[in-house]
Amino acid sequence: MGVFDDLVGQDRSVSVLSRAAAAAAEVVAGGRGAGMTHAWLFTGPPGSGREDAARAFAAALLCPDGGCGHCDQCHQVLIGSHPDLEQVRPAGLSYGVKQTRELILRAAGAPTQGRWRVILFEGADRATESAANALLKAIEEPPPRTVWLLCSPAPDDLMITIRSRCRLVTLTTPTTEAVAHVLATRDSVPPDIARFAARAAQGHLPRARALALDEGARARREAVLAIPRSLTGVGECVTAAERLVKTAEEEAAAATATLNESETSELRKVYGEGSTGKGLNRGLVRGGAGALKELEDRQKSRATRIKRDSLDAALLELVWFYRDVLAMQLGATVELANDDLRFDLDQLARTTTPEETLRRVDAVMRCRERLDLNVNPQIAVESMMLALRV
Ligand SMILES: [Zn+2]
Repeated sequence: MGVFDDLVGQDRSVSVLSRAAAAAAEVVAGGRGAGMTHAWLFTGPPGSGREDAARAFAAALLCPDGGCGHCDQCHQVLIGSHPDLEQVRPAGLSYGVKQTRELILRAAGAPTQGRWRVILFEGADRATESAANALLKAIEEPPPRTVWLLCSPAPDDLMITIRSRCRLVTLTTPTTEAVAHVLATRDSVPPDIARFAARAAQGHLPRARALALDEGARARREAVLAIPRSLTGVGECVTAAERLVKTAEEEAAAATATLNESETSELRKVYGEGSTGKGLNRGLVRGGAGALKELEDRQKSRATRIKRDSLDAALLELVWFYRDVLAMQLGATVELANDDLRFDLDQLARTTTPEETLRRVDAVMRCRERLDLNVNPQIAVESMMLALRV
C-alpha cells in the first residue's frame, strides 16, 4: 500500500483510491479499467490532508507498482518533481482564465513515462468563474491519459457543474489516538512522546512525526510557543517577527538544499556531464542546459512553497495556543493541544479576557490570509505580533 500508509484514519478514501489506482493500471496495460475516473475532487478541513491524499493517489497512478512509496517515480511525485505531475497552487486569491488555459494545454500532453498526466490542482476553489468554465470543458472531455485531481476545503466551493463531474473523496481529521498509534507502532516512538506529538500536531501526521523524531522541530515549536509571553513591547514584537520569518527561511533552506543537490546531480548524470567541463553547464550534452534550467526553476518555486508552508505551520501553532487559552477561559472540556505548556496557558487565561483571546486568534488568521495573498512576510507577521501584544 506504500504511499497510502500515511493517510491515517481515512480507510474509506484509501480503499476507493487503491481500487481506482488498480483500474488505472489496467488501462495502462491495455485493459478496460472499469472504475477509472479522470476527474477527482479531494475535500476536507485544513489538516485533514486532502493535498497529501491527492499526492499519494498521483504516486499510485504514476508508480509501476501502484504506489510502492520507495521507487524513483513515487519519490519524484512526493517531492514534486515528477515530469508527468503538474502541481498547481494559486499564489493569490484567484486563479485566472489565462493561467487555466495554459494549464489545460499542458495537461493535454501525452505522458512522458507512458502512464498518466496528472494535474494536482490545490485550491481549485480559487478559479475565477471564467477559469472554472474553461476547466469544466477540460474535465468534460479529458484526453485519454489525463487525470485531474482538484482540492478544495468543501465541495460547495466549486461550481456544481464541475463538482458533478468529479468523483468525490472526503477526508476527515484523524484523532489524536489514531496518529499516536501510528507513531508508536510504525515509527517505534515511545507512547508518551507519541501522544504529546499527536496532540501538539492536532491530527497532522507529518507534523506529529517531525515533532516525535526531530529534536530541531521540537525546539522550533518551543520557540514559536514562547512568542506570546515575550510580546511585552513594540520592540519585542518586531524582534519576534524577524525571528519567526528567519526561522521559516532557514527551515526551508535546510529542507530544499538536500533535495536540490541530489536532483541536480541525477540530471547531470542523465545528460552526461563531461569530465573536463568547467562552469555550470559546460560539458552537458545538447538539451541538458535547458533541462537543468527547468529543474532550477522548479526548485526555486518549491523553495518558496516550503518557506510559506513552514511559516504557516508556525502560525498554526499560535492559533492552537490561543485556542487552548480560550478553552481554559471558557472552561471547555476539550483536549488541549499544548498540554505541556499549561503554566503559560493558564497565566494568559487568567490575565486576559476571552474577547482579547478571540481577537488574537483573528489576528493570526488574518496574517495567514495576507501571506497567502503574497504580502511581504516581515510586514504581515509584524502587524500580527503587534496585535498579539499583551
Ligand atoms: Zn513506487
